[in-house]
Amino acid sequence: MSRRKVLAGNWKMNKLNADVDAFVEGYSAAVGGPSPVTTIICPPYTLLQSAVRAAKKHGYLVVSQNVHGEGKGAFTGEISIPMLKEIGVNGAVVGHSERRQYYAETDHAIGVKAKALQAANMWAICCIGETKDQRVSGETMKVVGAQLDGICASLTSLENIMFAYEPVWAIGTGLNASDEQAQEVHAFVRGRLAEKYGPKVAEATSILYGGSVKSSNIKGLISQKDIDGGLVGGASLDPAEFAAIYKGMS
Ligand code: PEP
Repeated sequence: MSRRKVLAGNWKMNKLNADVDAFVEGYSAAVGGPSPVTTIICPPYTLLQSAVRAAKKHGYLVVSQNVHGEGKGAFTGEISIPMLKEIGVNGAVVGHSERRQYYAETDHAIGVKAKALQAANMWAICCIGETKDQRVSGETMKVVGAQLDGICASLTSLENIMFAYEPVWAIGTGLNASDEQAQEVHAFVRGRLAEKYGPKVAEATSILYGGSVKSSNIKGLISQKDIDGGLVGGASLDPAEFAAIYKGMS
């Protein structure tokens, strides 16, 4: 699979089934015809079926915001990969910083989930990123490198894997990384992937930026050599703004 430009919208714990059709139709009308950018919608679990139905006719992908690494078993409250696959979901975001922060998700667990998604021929969007304190103390590359190492320990290939660099200090804060700050980390990530899987594989892997992406800042970010798209939270809730981000990438 070659490197693709991707716009992914993480709705987090927002919206209801009743909102899905209007969102998808509004977005599709605003973006217009086909373009090389792949659109991915990441709704909460209860909205996935509605989203798959609505997204299918436009060729958008739908991925969940999390998934369990085991195929089945005594894991109360969890959702498995076969459950997602059965309803036509295309993959999952794994290791979002909110899952790391509130649910103690580890790099190892994220790698296990990504590997299980790969085995099911589904996409894994693996999130990495440093906190504000880590950036201020000059530890960004050390932290991001360790996260990558922990995730990649489970992965013998990057088939069906994307990464999202999401500095924690930029998520939901309105403070996005500058184009240069983001590019510096993306280049580091691609370099680390090249060491592990070879330069051809690293070149073919999409690395998204996330953290207060909006229509007003996407152009600068996407013009960077190693930034292949955006994982967007707040600004993905409004179809017009999400479409404006898409247009900024095209
Ligand atoms: C996110 O949730 O992944 C995210 C980047 O959020 P926001 O765009 O709101 O910063």
